[in-house]
Amino acid sequence: MRKIFITVFLSLTLTTPAFAELKVVATLPWISSLAKEIGKDKVSVTTLIKPNQDPHVVEAKPSMILAGRKADIIIYNGLDLEIGYLPLILESSKNPKIVPGKPGNCDCSHFVKAIEKLGAVDRSMGDVHPLGNPHYHYSPANILRVAEGMSNTLAGLDRANAEYYRANFRSFAERLKERQKKWSAIPLKGKKFVAYHKLFEYLAGEFGFQLVGYVEAKPGIPPSAGHVEALIESMKANKPDGIVTTSFYGRKESESISAKTGVRLIILPGDIGGMKGTDDWFSFMDTVLASLK
Ligand SMILES: [Zn+2]
Repeated sequence: MRKIFITVFLSLTLTTPAFAELKVVATLPWISSLAKEIGKDKVSVTTLIKPNQDPHVVEAKPSMILAGRKADIIIYNGLDLEIGYLPLILESSKNPKIVPGKPGNCDCSHFVKAIEKLGAVDRSMGDVHPLGNPHYHYSPANILRVAEGMSNTLAGLDRANAEYYRANFRSFAERLKERQKKWSAIPLKGKKFVAYHKLFEYLAGEFGFQLVGYVEAKPGIPPSAGHVEALIESMKANKPDGIVTTSFYGRKESESISAKTGVRLIILPGDIGGMKGTDDWFSFMDTVLASLK
């Protein structure tokens, strides 16, 4: 009797709920977080990449393909950041809803103003992104555009709740405006930093600091000893305010350069959830800016 009861109970809870949530697959934690801000209880979100995983070197796993198969929409960074695994997921999941060109395929970079677009590229230039610098999640101006674009996309896909998504976007934009007042008071203008990877260009542009050198001579390629030596010499002479990286972009090399030059090492979160207290995009940016200050 008891067994029958449990079986009936389980089958009731496992069937479709009264309203069907939109099944969202997000590649990166910040995209997942934004989708939850805009979709709240009308979406269920699966995130493919972990906060402290280098997003440039990800391999497609069967679990990712399975998530793609069940998705109503896949939302991703674009600008080739997911080029190593997303095409495979889109193809292998055989889900017509999420293929490029369909409303269930949402490339967030379509909403942003990308910087550092390149013309012709070849492998000798390193792991460069010809469509532009893909690390725009450190950019409040672009995140606002992405949140709006995402709300319009979700509204188009789930028309019954269109106004709900747009209202959630307005409340997000309102919070962002408030936070911007606090952030713009943080004195970063004129500061000079050396970075490991080309991660912080949007941040520098919007908050008025300079990136005066990179540990990586070419993105994605470990630096040569000669390059590091030259960088150390120039850092000793020019005394930048810090050397910035995340826990997974050349932390060891950055630590050693910091020790040799006496220039402070600043570890920033690479994505939401990458450090304690970075549970949403606002607290992520709070942490980034407070660490730089
Ligand atoms: Zn990169």
